[in-house]
Formats: sequence, structure tokens, C-alpha cells
Amino acid sequence: MNDHTYDAIVVGSGISGGWAAKELCEKGLKTLVLERGRDVRHREDYPTMHTPPWEFPLRGNLSLDVKRENPIVSKCYAFKDDADHFFVKDKEHPYIQEKPFDWIRGYQVGGKSLLWARQVQRWSKYDFEGPARDGFAVDWPIRYRDIAPWYSHVEKFIGVSGNKDGLETLPDGEFLPPWEMNKVEREIQQSIMSSYKDRNVIIGRCAHLTKPAEHHVALGRGQCMARSLCQRGCPFGAYFSSNAATLPAAAVTGNLKVRPFSVVHSLIYDDQKGKVTGVNVIDSETMESTSYFAKLIFVNASALNTNLILLNSTSTRFPKGLGNDNGLLGRYIAFHNYRGNISASMDKHLDSYYYGRRPTSIMMPNFRNVKKQEMDFLRGYMTFYTAGRKGWGSARDADFGPEYKEKNAELGDWNVFMMMQGETIPKSESRVSLDPDKKDKWDMPLLKVNVGYDDNDEKSLKDFLEQGTEMLEKAGCYNIRGWDTKQSPGLDIHEMGGVRMGRDPKTSLLNGYNQMHACPSVFVTDGACMTSTGTQNPSITYMALTARAVDFAVKALKSGALT
Ligand SMILES: Cc1cc2nc3c(=O)[nH]c(=O)nc-3n(C[C@H](O)[C@H](O)[C@H](O)COP(=O)(O)OP(=O)(O)OC[C@H]3O[C@@H](n4cnc5c(N)ncnc54)[C@H](O)[C@@H]3O)c2cc1C
Repeated sequence: MNDHTYDAIVVGSGISGGWAAKELCEKGLKTLVLERGRDVRHREDYPTMHTPPWEFPLRGNLSLDVKRENPIVSKCYAFKDDADHFFVKDKEHPYIQEKPFDWIRGYQVGGKSLLWARQVQRWSKYDFEGPARDGFAVDWPIRYRDIAPWYSHVEKFIGVSGNKDGLETLPDGEFLPPWEMNKVEREIQQSIMSSYKDRNVIIGRCAHLTKPAEHHVALGRGQCMARSLCQRGCPFGAYFSSNAATLPAAAVTGNLKVRPFSVVHSLIYDDQKGKVTGVNVIDSETMESTSYFAKLIFVNASALNTNLILLNSTSTRFPKGLGNDNGLLGRYIAFHNYRGNISASMDKHLDSYYYGRRPTSIMMPNFRNVKKQEMDFLRGYMTFYTAGRKGWGSARDADFGPEYKEKNAELGDWNVFMMMQGETIPKSESRVSLDPDKKDKWDMPLLKVNVGYDDNDEKSLKDFLEQGTEMLEKAGCYNIRGWDTKQSPGLDIHEMGGVRMGRDPKTSLLNGYNQMHACPSVFVTDGACMTSTGTQNPSITYMALTARAVDFAVKALKSGALT
């Protein structure tokens, strides 16, 4: 048992698991990270990071065969020839869609941190107060002030570019220099902010090093070159990933052990000791079963996989899944509503151009129902937009030679693209559960997903399409066209909930420190813990909650409160 015993175990090495590992190791705990996928070493295992477009057989596109074999993951914009090796293929890891749900996953060391789009915004006090004020879900057991210092802690380490905008709906953080808006984006910004006193428009905030600090450089990270090839893995370590940042930081402590190819099957509840003592693991290559033990266990397998593992962790004490005394494990799943898109044209600033690329867009924090209920739907949406000159890049893949050059050199007026990121309401009937019969080849039950849109989402979508159109009209745009993408839940890749935080063990699974009410040695700090979804991109909140939970857990361990 000795070489299978650690101070702490972390399940999953993605965005949240990487953070758990770094914080635990830096606090002196011998930490084992169990990752179901293969190892991906920073730089060495980014095979396409320098591949020029002409060396991809289909210039980056996927073959029809690959698309046909992968109808789900093919819907993700980043699933292309240059990065398909970082995505889970549909057939390899089946699940059951009781309602349409596109589950996009990355099973490897680093998880989806290699693939994410890196947009990061803090939640505001209004987001944490939302469920209690508006009477949906349960009250968050924390407020903005509890997490604010942890956002700072995370931002300093990962590196976030942004501007101090002084908005109470999107609090400022520890920012590196911001990216710039182009003239049309600024024109629209000014028009919106002068037409509506409750609406703010800012340059996006993203986890890219625009000016690396000493501690970034010490880890081998460098400045963002705006190549916009991020999903291939960044040779400069310029955007935040577990592989470039948290795992190397954990490794330098000498306390980290990462075990790839380790499918965590379940957590071990020792009925005699009355506590969780470890995890059961199946080696994904040899199919051998083994167990590892620790005083602290962080479950960070990403929201739905964390639900799966906990539901699969049954014992005499917990026959319905670990910590599931109230029967709510797997329920109250929510996500982000991405169904609203608008395109438009603008013919101002035709003498102006912009150079280079930018890894972020323009952001508008939610302006609906912020301080009180105003609309006929609950909560609201964030809005993103970008503007680019028509022409550049308009050559199609089929164009070639002089035609290609000429088409790319033509300059037309401006294209504007706008989209929503709407909060959805967690409901008891939005749930995941385990199929009683069907299993995957690692002996894990298949996950059944039953999550869908509701009337609230339809109303908020309608409002976005109306408001977006109006804002673009006022700014002088034309050819404005809004549409419903009709995309299924899941494709937002912001699935959350199922193991929610709360104040009361009767209505939640985790307390205010992400600790299981019924199993104090277990912490869940990925998206599964989310009580509500807010309108912001979620990952920075998972990171901040993780760092905060580790701080609490290690203090509890050292004080003897956790034995
Ligand atoms: C294309 C794309 C764009 C995105 N853009 C953004 C964005 O701009 N901003 C934002 O905030 N978020 C974004 N996201 C979402 C973001 O990637 C996730 O929120 C984040 O990665 C979640 O972190 P995690 O640690 O919970 O899960 P992951 O990063 O997915 O890591 C989970 C890890 O657990 C492992 N695992 C799963 N099951 C097991 C098991 N049984 N045993 C052992 N290991 C297991 C997985 O292999 C994986 O490595 C995007 C995602 C994608 C794919």
C-alpha cells in the first residue's frame, strides 16, 4: 500500500485539476494526479504547432470520413485537422443522449486546457446573489468578496490581458496590457455606451501573456505572438494551459506524480472508517485494476465526468452515489445558451485598416435583470462582437495562385459579428444518470444526459436578437441578420452543476469550500460544483474556487480537522 499512498489525489489534469495539483504541491503535499488520457508534454507533444497551412492535406479541414464518423465533436469549431488529436472521438467514448447534448471532451494530460478559447471574466456580486434573489436554484454559500482574492491569485499566475474598466458587473482583476479594438469596434462601443446608460462595452479579457512577468518567464512562458493557432498547443506557453503552467509549477516542488492512462472508476468509501480513503483506477492500456489512497481527494474530471465518477462510487453507506443522501447528485445541470448570432455590415472607416490578429473579442457584460427582476425571463446574457474588414482572407480554399492573392487583397466594407452567452437555469429534471446495463470498455457505466432548453432560454434568445439588432442599427450598421443557431446544449462546452455548492446538506452536495457535506475528505472544484452558471466564461471561476478549496483543505488537514 505504501507506494500507492499519497497525501492528496487529484482526479483529472485539466484546467481545474492542474490548479489543484499546483496548489497542493506548493503547500508541501505529495500529490498524485490521475489522468485517464495519454501524457502530453509541453511543446514536445504539440505535433502541429509549427505546421504551415499547405502541409495539411486538406488545408486544415477534416475529411468527410472523419466528419461522418464524428457527428458530435465535428460541430465544435476547433475540431480541425490541426487539433483533432486533442479531442475525444465520438465512437471511442459513447454516452447516451436522452435529449440532444453535444458533449465535447479532451482526454489527455492537460484536458481541455489545450483547447479552450481562454476568455476569462470574473463573476460579480450580482451573479453570486442571483439565485437567492430571484428564487431559483439554491443560495450560493459564498459571495464575491470570498472569492475576489482568489481571482487575483489565479490571474497573477495565469496572466490575463485586460483593461481596468471599473465595472461593477465585471470586476477588474490583475491585468497585463489589453489588446486593442479596431476603429469599427470602437465606433460601435461608443454608440452603445452613449445610447444606453446601463450598457458597457470593453475589450475582451483573455488568459494570454501580453507582457510576461518574471514568474511567467521563470516557468518558461513567453509573450503571445498572436498567431491564433492556440488549439495546436502554444510553443511559447503564451496562453494558459495546465501543460505550460500549473503542472510545471507543481513539478518543480518535487511533490508531483502524474499517472496518465489511469481511468478513475470510483472513490473508495471505507464503511468501517466511515470515510473516503482512496480511488479505484483502471489502467486504460493494460485494463488492470488498482487502488490509490490519500487523506485528501480532489475530483476534477470536468463537470459531467465528475458526476459520473461520484454516481459510480457506491457503497453500503452511499448506495445512490457518493455523498448522495439527498438524491440530488447529477441534478441541476445547466450550461450557456449560445443560440443567438447576428451578422451585419458597416461602411464607415473605409480608409482604416488593422494589422495582426487578436485572441479575444469585444465584451459586453450582462445588462438584463442585474440588480432587480425587469424582464419576463430570469437572468441575462453576455454579448460578444468583433468587426473585420471584408476581403482579407476571403479567398476560399479552392482558390489558387493569382486568384488567391487577388481575392485576399480586395478590401470591402466591414463585417460585424455578434453573439450571446446566456445564463440557463439549473433544474432538478436537467440531470445526468448512469445506464444500469451499458458499460464502456473500462467497465464504467455509460452516462445518460437529459438536459435541454426551456422557455426562459427562448425568451432570453429573443431579447438578445432584438437588442443586438437595435444596438447595431443605432451604430450605423446595415444588412443586419440575426438567427438562432439551434445548437444543442453541450456545444457551449460550459456544462456545469450536478454536485452543487450550497448552505444546506439537504439541498446541496458541497459546502462553501467545495467540500462534500457527507465526505469531508472529498472536494469537487470543477464545473460540477456550480450552483448557477452566471453569464461569464466559467473556467476562471473553477480555478479560483480550486485554489480557495485547497487552501481550506490543507489548513484543515494540518490542524487535524481532517485525519
Ligand atoms: C474549443 C473550446 C473553447 C473553450 N473556450 C473557453 C473559454 O474561452 N473560456 C472558458 O472559461 N472556458 C472555455 N472552454 C471550456 C473549458 O475548456 C473548460 O471549462 C475547462 O477545461 C474545464 O476544466 P476541467 O478541469 O473541469 O476539465 P478539463 O479541462 O476537461 O479536464 C478534465 C480532465 O479529467 C480527465 N478525466 C475525465 N474523466 C476521468 C476519469 N474517470 N479518470 C481520470 N481522469 C479523467 C480528462 O481526461 C481531462 O484531462 C472551452 C472549451 C473548448 C473545448
